[in-house]
Amino acid sequence: MTSNTTQRFENRVVLVTGAGGGIGRAVAEGFAAEGARVAVNDLHPHTVEAVVAGITAAGGTALAVPADVSDAAQVEAMFARTEAALGHVDVLYNNAALIDTARHFLEADEAWWDRIQRVNLKSVFLCSHRAATVMARRRRGVIISTSSGGATRAHRGNVAYDATKGGIEAMTRSMALDLAPYGIRVNGVVPGFINTYGLTEEQLRVREKTVPLGRYGVAADMVGAALFLASDDAAYITGQFIAVDGGVLAQQRSANVDTFPVEGFPVIPADLA
Ligand code: NAD
Repeated sequence: MTSNTTQRFENRVVLVTGAGGGIGRAVAEGFAAEGARVAVNDLHPHTVEAVVAGITAAGGTALAVPADVSDAAQVEAMFARTEAALGHVDVLYNNAALIDTARHFLEADEAWWDRIQRVNLKSVFLCSHRAATVMARRRRGVIISTSSGGATRAHRGNVAYDATKGGIEAMTRSMALDLAPYGIRVNGVVPGFINTYGLTEEQLRVREKTVPLGRYGVAADMVGAALFLASDDAAYITGQFIAVDGGVLAQQRSANVDTFPVEGFPVIPADLA
């Protein structure tokens, strides 16, 4: 891609997980527009191939690396393929997650909990560990993971999701300390209400009223913070998170809970003394 005058990621390899759509796709395209060779991961080959085709058509360099990032063997194969085709990974952007997982705590079960922990949290461990093993030997690298407002302010009906995002924030600080002596920076982003999930116009209008900046976010809003944290402009920043949320986390007022209203809570008879 030549239209962008800033090329902060020339000669850098960036791997973005869950980049078949939504925020991951926008971030992958953003890195490619600034000169990175981008490995594009998601579960299904056809989605990543479409993203790669778009980047390539725009003059960038990208590689499709479909894999389930919660599976250690598939993570290993994804990194091996990226290294063989593009070179060692300079930037890992952990973005893949299950986002549509709401269930009231009283209706939770072990399979639901395990699946969300595996896809949203264990995947960050697997990918970060594999990436850091090579980054440490090169004495450089950046790992960025995707949290949520749910890490610090709960979403109703999302105990498992919120626990994974809290885990990601704790892991990020911990990895930042362990990896700092090897020249590896570890940070994260906290998306706010980014419209990637098919809400109706009416739902969007209602929900965006709760955003201090007065509008919902779009995937492109995430690109600036992602690229900044990955770039040398952030050379002295590690163990930190940047919220990209239009001010939501800064405000006292609760957001609307239209996605999980109290009326939808299970009816539990009060029949025990
Ligand atoms: P999305 O569903 O469009 O993106 C998530 C992607 O991860 C999907 O393409 C999905 O196929 C992929 N994925 C799921 N399981 C996978 C697996 N096992 N292996 C590989 N890929 C897998 O949603 P999004 O809104 O773009 O979310 C991106 C990230 O941002 C997520 O981590 C999400 O938790 C976080 N986030 C989003 C919002 C928001 O408002 N959209 C808010 C807070 C946090």
